[in-house]
This record gives sequence, structure tokens and C-alpha cells, in this order.
Amino acid sequence: MSDEEARARIRRAAAVVLLRAGAAGQELFWVRRSAEVSLGGGFHAFAGGRLDEADNVLAATAPGACDDAPLRVAALRELFEETGVLPGWDPSGVPSSRVAECRRALLAGACGFADVLRRLDAPLALAALAPAGRWITPPFVRTRFDAAFFVACLPPGQGAEVWPGELVSGEWITPEAALARWEDGSALLHPPALHVLRCLRDAPWPACSDALQQATGVRDHVPLTMEFQAGVRLVPLRTPTLPPATHTNCYLLGGDELLIVDPGPSEAGEQQVLFDFCDALRAEGRRVRAIVLTHEHVDHVGAAAALRARLGAPLLAHAETAARLPELTLDGLVADDEVFALAGARPQSWRALFTPGHARGHLCLFEEGTRSLVAGDMLAGVGTVVIPSSPEGDMSAYMASLERLQGLAPRTIYPAHGPVIVDAAERLRFYLEHRRERERAVVEALQAAGCALPEELVPRVYADVAPSAHALAAHSLRAVLDKLVREGRAERGCDGRYASAGPS
Ligand SMILES: [Zn+2]
Repeated sequence: MSDEEARARIRRAAAVVLLRAGAAGQELFWVRRSAEVSLGGGFHAFAGGRLDEADNVLAATAPGACDDAPLRVAALRELFEETGVLPGWDPSGVPSSRVAECRRALLAGACGFADVLRRLDAPLALAALAPAGRWITPPFVRTRFDAAFFVACLPPGQGAEVWPGELVSGEWITPEAALARWEDGSALLHPPALHVLRCLRDAPWPACSDALQQATGVRDHVPLTMEFQAGVRLVPLRTPTLPPATHTNCYLLGGDELLIVDPGPSEAGEQQVLFDFCDALRAEGRRVRAIVLTHEHVDHVGAAAALRARLGAPLLAHAETAARLPELTLDGLVADDEVFALAGARPQSWRALFTPGHARGHLCLFEEGTRSLVAGDMLAGVGTVVIPSSPEGDMSAYMASLERLQGLAPRTIYPAHGPVIVDAAERLRFYLEHRRERERAVVEALQAAGCALPEELVPRVYADVAPSAHALAAHSLRAVLDKLVREGRAERGCDGRYASAGPS
């Protein structure tokens, strides 16, 4: 896909920052998206969503409509759908049951937004929205939005209420309290929401109007980095990785002191993106304590030597990883349970966890205060991970490592590939169950075949996986067979064929 084609596929969207005067100052209404929602699931955000064709039609009927009228219509409609609020409308004399009835009909698709306005005798109050910035989803995310942000004030006589569904909750909160939730890791924020909260904290609306539209750390409205929770910065970088991934997430952890985890890109231009980002953090007075590699795979270490030379920071990895990187100069080894205590206004304590399975020296990092896990290739944001066959990969070790992570009960998992995992407990349970199911399928396939090469079992065991991925699947299948051999449940002949053995 060319850049132009990719841009053409970006969908228009609108979001509304709803404000009211609270006892403790200005408050905003934020919502939490359900973990199942594909984009922004589990994150705190503002009411909003996609522009519909009907929004364009309705906007065309608005008298004296401005260029962004369709987006304003989308913003008003989404706000009404998600919170029941209609800016610029006086609800006096209209029973709340009637408003709820209209909202239900709109959500069910039984009527359009134009019908709702007619039934409630409400105006299409485009001017009740004030522009508050524009944000475009970064290119590594599959579904991208070009979102217009607006500010609206809660009209007298109306209240915001979330109905469970795509949104799990909604509440009024001050910007200070919202940012405190982001700092302790209990509320994850995308860059636009973080920017809005910081602007509102620094100066209440409307004094922050200009600041809202002038975000830093963005290029052409696209944020260059993400700090979903305080002190966990994610920079996705293009690397020679395995499909369907195209990027490796490099993490910059900490406050005044930083750990850089998995500098992956090999290509000079992509390395420069990381260098620029490190320079910006250092210009803020932060110091890089160390560069840590989760494991030796090429898409995790591509910029390691260059970054080490540039920053003069020690490059660290587990001994088993160091042994597999003879071409790299490492400055030290990381042992299981070693703790990196990082200084800063909010100190962090990252514990290294030796988690072999995907690679022999694989490390994860776990922050105990916020229960955040930087998972390397133990888990992926989308799909599952490949377990190489022995001796590099080890299915028994991998499952034991997964169980160890499960025992730590992480709240948020930051994988090396794909989006952040917000439903950590559920995902770990799924990973373990998925591996156990595959193992059962391998045992059955082997019993049916009598004696077979791993490749011959792939179509049966991986019937649910596209044939193009079968070559990769064969690695994981061989890893399962090796586990069965170690457990005495299969035998491996000298011709490379495997056969069932013992009770299964
Ligand atoms: Zn890997």
C-alpha cells in the first residue's frame, strides 16, 4: 500500500470534551471504552466516533454551515449517543424519558439524528462546539482516524450518563484527578486525551483554547510517541520482523532516569527517529541509565550498538542472550529478579524476569508499583507468538514463563509487537489455554498419523491458520513435539519423524 492509499483509508471522526463547573473547579466527562472494542479498548477517552454518511447529509441542510459542519454533526450525534447530552438545547418541559427513548431509537438505528432533533424540537447547534485540535492515528495502527476535537459545555438541565455497552463507564472528573489516575497507571490515555487533560489542568477553558490546538511531539497531526501511562513511553519503529507485525515497540521507561528496552530498527532513517526521541528526553534533563535487550532476535537489537555508542549508556541483556550476540559489545548481564530502581518525581522499580521459551535468554520487566509488564515477545498485541524449535525455543519453558507472569497479576501488558494489552489476566489465561489446546491437537494428530514429520501434522493441527503462515506454525509445532518427547509422551526417530509413546 502506498502512503497516499494508506492516507485515503484514514476515516474521519469527531470527539467532544464535555465540560461543566464543578465544586472543585472545572470538570470534564471522560468515558472508558470496553476492552473488546478494537480501537482504544480499555482506554479512557472522550465521547466520539466515526463520521457517518448521514452526518454529511444533515450538515448540508444546516443554515450558514462552515467547512467542518459534517464533523460537528458527527460530534453532536456521538455525544448524544454516548452520554445523552445535546449541547445548545434547553430541555425545559421535555420529560427525560422522552430523551432516553430518542437516544435508544438512535442507537438501535430505528431513526436518524435529524429525527431525534425534530422529535425533541432541538436545534442543530453547530456553534455550541468550539474547535479543540485535530489528531491522526499513527500509521502502525491498522484502523486509522483523522479526528476533530471539540469542546462543549454541559447545558443547564441536562446530565451525562453512560449506558453500558461499548463504553463501560463515564464520570465527571477534574483534570488533576484524571492525570493522577494516569500517573498511577490505573487509567490509560492516548496522546490526544493526555494533551487535553494537561491543557485543562494548566489553564481552564476557554483560556487553554490555543494550547489545545498546539500539541508538541506531533508531525502533521500524528503523535510521534505514546505515553499511555506515566513513565512508559512507546515508540513503534519499523523493523525486519515477522508478519503480521511490521514494527517493534521500543519502550523508554522511567522519569529522571530512563531504561530503553529493545531498540529494534536496523535501517538508519528509522534509527534516527529513536535517536531524536532520546535527544528530546535528554534535553529535558533525563539520563539514560541503561539499554536493555529482552532477547537477541534481529528486530529487537538492530539499533543497539548505534544507540550505545551515541548515548554512552551500558547495553545489558541476560547471559544467554549475550552469548548469542557475539557481534555486540555488552556492558553487563541482567540476572533474574534484578531490580532497576529509577529515580524521578514518581520513582519506578522495574524487576527483570527471566522468562525463557521464545528465546533462551528472554527477559520481561515488571513495575511493581503500577503492575505494568514490558513483555518482549512473551505475548503479542495481536495473535500469539512463535515458539522456535529446540534448542532456541522451549515450549515447556514458555508455558512455565507464562504461568510465572500470570502469578504476578499484571494490570497492563506492553508487548514488543502490536497494541498494548489492557485485559492482562484474560489474555494470559487465553495464551495458556491456547497452548494447551494446541498440545492436545498435536497429540491427537500424532496418534492418528502413527509416525510423522512436524510439517505433515501442520495442516491438521493448524487448520484454523492461513496456509501462508504454516511454515512459521511448523516451528511452534516442533516445539510442542519436543516438549512431548521430554515428557516421555512421544519419541523422535533418527529420520526426524515423531511417534506417540507412553500414555497420553
Ligand atoms: Zn523474538
